[in-house]
Amino acid sequence: MPSNPEPVAGLAPAPEDVAAVDVSELEHVYGDGRSAVTALGPISLRVPTGSFLVIVGASGCGKSTLLRLIAGFERPTSGTVRTGGEEPVPGRGAGVVFQQPRLFPWKTVGGNVDLALRYAGVPKPERARRVPELLERVGLHDVADRRIWQISGGQQQRVAIARALAGDDPLLLLDEPFAALDALTRERLQEDLRRVSTETGRTSVFVTHSVDEAVFLGSRVVVLTHRPGRIALDLEVGLPRTGLEPDELRALPEYAALRTTIGHAVRTAAALEGETR
Ligand code: ADP
Ligand code: MG
Repeated sequence: MPSNPEPVAGLAPAPEDVAAVDVSELEHVYGDGRSAVTALGPISLRVPTGSFLVIVGASGCGKSTLLRLIAGFERPTSGTVRTGGEEPVPGRGAGVVFQQPRLFPWKTVGGNVDLALRYAGVPKPERARRVPELLERVGLHDVADRRIWQISGGQQQRVAIARALAGDDPLLLLDEPFAALDALTRERLQEDLRRVSTETGRTSVFVTHSVDEAVFLGSRVVVLTHRPGRIALDLEVGLPRTGLEPDELRALPEYAALRTTIGHAVRTAAALEGETR
């Protein structure tokens, strides 16, 4: 294989050089004057295409702020955010999943996914084909005709994930999507999300305060300090993404070692409380 040629000045960079997310010297302050709250940063982070980045940190350290900046919902006070090389535009380029699923309760499960495809500009005949495909992917093919209020919280979150996948956006942004679910449902959804992200090749940025969730899901884990969130630890996880059953993965000695390392970093970062205020 020939090596890649040197980039030529004045030409656009090759697609593989453009990170899915590129955050540089990013800082965010809410309010101004005496009531100003520095929520985040400065923070710099490059997320290569196809990775599954998990951001872990204590409550209030700026995780949601970081995700909202990446989604383009919020403009940074200073520094820059680029997704796929461009300034992020809300509703374009990224599927977003929140802690509480944001769905249309009077519509069916299939209807909710269909609507997301419609927003994405997918024509009707193609939507008819893709709705069952997306439902199958998130394990909801049996409940396509139920109304949202007729399914469980875990299933509702699956609908939210299907909707986020509908746009075909290269990026998935997830803000503690499983935090309100019971432990067993949460594990199932983690397992399915891990599989789906690998199968679809989406770049994911997932926010959580659970160390377990971070180790299980992440191909890379970044631990944030107490507010204003800065990077306390940036770790490539290196566990296999395919070929192992979830329980086999959790039983690996490396898995336990990662939990210890990341858990320690989260506790140390949280202990900085008071010094950083
Ligand atoms: P996390 O998601 O890690 O819990 P957030 O990003 O929600 O943290 O918040 C970080 C800090 O910024 C917190 O101290 C929070 O109170 C503050 N904050 C978040 N959103 C706003 C806002 N809209 N206005 C003022 N302060 C905010
Ligand atoms: Mg949050």
